[in-house]
Amino acid sequence: MPELPEVETIKRGLERLILRKKITRVEILNEKSWRGLDARRVLGQEIVEFDRRGKALLMKLNNNLWMMAHLRMTGQMIVVGAGEKFAAGHPDGNFTAEMPSRHTRIWFEFDDGSHLYFNDLRKFGFIKLMDELGLQEDEFLMNLAPEPWAMSEDDFWARLQRHLNSPIKAVLLDQHIIAGVGNIYADEACFLARVFPGVKVREISRETADKLLQGLREVMQASIDSGGSTMKDYVRADGTKGSYLEKFAQVFRRDGDSCKVCGAKILKTRVAGRGTHYCPECQA
Ligand SMILES: [Zn+2]
Repeated sequence: MPELPEVETIKRGLERLILRKKITRVEILNEKSWRGLDARRVLGQEIVEFDRRGKALLMKLNNNLWMMAHLRMTGQMIVVGAGEKFAAGHPDGNFTAEMPSRHTRIWFEFDDGSHLYFNDLRKFGFIKLMDELGLQEDEFLMNLAPEPWAMSEDDFWARLQRHLNSPIKAVLLDQHIIAGVGNIYADEACFLARVFPGVKVREISRETADKLLQGLREVMQASIDSGGSTMKDYVRADGTKGSYLEKFAQVFRRDGDSCKVCGAKILKTRVAGRGTHYCPECQA
């Protein structure tokens, strides 16, 4: 599933390649992948601004309408043209396939002949066209909690106090409490804060809470910073495997390997219904 850093990578890639280009054609190949206002209202418009809120990508048009893209489990954004190809999102063979592929749900053509493809194998993702009011009243955006960078240590601590009986990892993954934290980042932040992901919030000290928040910012920023090279790796290879995590992961998907800090074997268990990786020594 594309996590927040991956969506930020997509935002930056699209900004670089299709900002200020005029949409001359839009094709919707799967009806349910398009929501909101009539798609014809994007024709003749330029994309004048890119933004990201949590895992939602926002594209503003010069008629003041907004397209909001949710990639969900298997969404991808692929730009072909302008002398290069940009692909990001769910990593699979589509990254190297001819476009449109059989997983393409929506595509756009721009006035310079380049194309943007929204691919989505499982069809849970969508693009929604809204006016300013629609954006303000969008249920997803209204319920979105602040991201780790936008949340103070005091605010994070206050939010934790409302969930004292929950495992800390469940709280980190709850998008209503803190936005954008996926499974990878929850495990990595717990390692950095030296706390077992299954520990109840009531057992967490203020000092550990501060370290958790700082750890989230650190690992998510590292992932964003390496996102650009990720995409190139995907396109060069067969497109089936992501590798950017391997550069910095301390515990995630390292079960059976040695802890980089203490040498103990990294273990895998289940917390909050998710596969969870930890060091039994560092996070005792
Ligand atoms: Zn360790």
